[in-house]
Amino acid sequence: MQARCDLHLHSDASDGSVPPDQLAANLGHVHLAVLTDHDTLAGSAAFAKVVDSELPVPDGVEISLRWESGTFHLLVYGNSLARTELATRIDELAVARQNRNLELLDRANQYGLSITEEEVLAVAGTTDFQAKSVGRPHFARVLVDHGYAESIQDAFDRYLAKGRPLYSPKTLFGFDEIGPLCADLGLVAVVAHPFSLGLPLSSLASTLADYRRIGLVGLECLYAGYTPEQRTQLTQIARDLDLLVTGGSDYHGTFKPGLEPLKGFGDLVVPAEVGDRLLESLNRS
Ligand code: AMP
Ligand code: ZN
Ligand code: FE
Ligand code: FE
Repeated sequence: MQARCDLHLHSDASDGSVPPDQLAANLGHVHLAVLTDHDTLAGSAAFAKVVDSELPVPDGVEISLRWESGTFHLLVYGNSLARTELATRIDELAVARQNRNLELLDRANQYGLSITEEEVLAVAGTTDFQAKSVGRPHFARVLVDHGYAESIQDAFDRYLAKGRPLYSPKTLFGFDEIGPLCADLGLVAVVAHPFSLGLPLSSLASTLADYRRIGLVGLECLYAGYTPEQRTQLTQIARDLDLLVTGGSDYHGTFKPGLEPLKGFGDLVVPAEVGDRLLESLNRS
């Protein structure tokens, strides 16, 4: 079997369930794998140290940006990200995330769902909201443990998804701010799971064309959660707009059941050349 790539993985530094070093070890031999935790680089070094990869492993992060219908996710890849100006933005996001978690906790209790900060932190494997990128999946697990929901998905559908009673937005940056910063710093900015923008194909393409002018480099076409047809549609858009094709599983361990690293739901293949192109793009800048 040809070594594959996975450019979208979460560890317990954010809302995955597996520690970064163990996640890296579980992958086995790969062409390229990148850790992309939400709003944190905390797991990056531990992951890179252990992973058995044919290519040198860059840093990665997934950040939530402002969007009409809530947020969309941007994957950013780069070398030594922690030493760039983007790291300052990520720190600001971490503060916003902590405030948002406290707001979520308040809302839950006002709504009659008796959950505590300690329970959420225990699920996230930490002792304070600052140490890790704690998020809604951790709240979802606590709600399930209390019997307020049947599954993580049920907890989102009832309480945590946008428009539901516990939902609280984060203070966020827009792509107009982060895109040009990434371009300046030579970082590769990629729109994650692009259908989450909720746009039909033609408007998606025109939004992406606008973003490309201000720093967008790639599109996550080979996303585990998408059908082969959707992956083909996105690959066509990427080709038309001269965007880099990327892909990955969005593995979260037990927080997203059914997904495996590298394989997604079983039918994901992110070929070696996708990793090659990503590194070429990083090295060009
Ligand atoms: P947060 O960073 O706290 O906004 O949480 C983001 C995480 O929640 C992502 O990993 C998503 O997979 C998960 N998530 C967001 N919306 C939903 C939803 N409607 N159903 C299930 N999971 C979701
Ligand atoms: Zn996540
Ligand atoms: Fe995402
Ligand atoms: Fe993700």
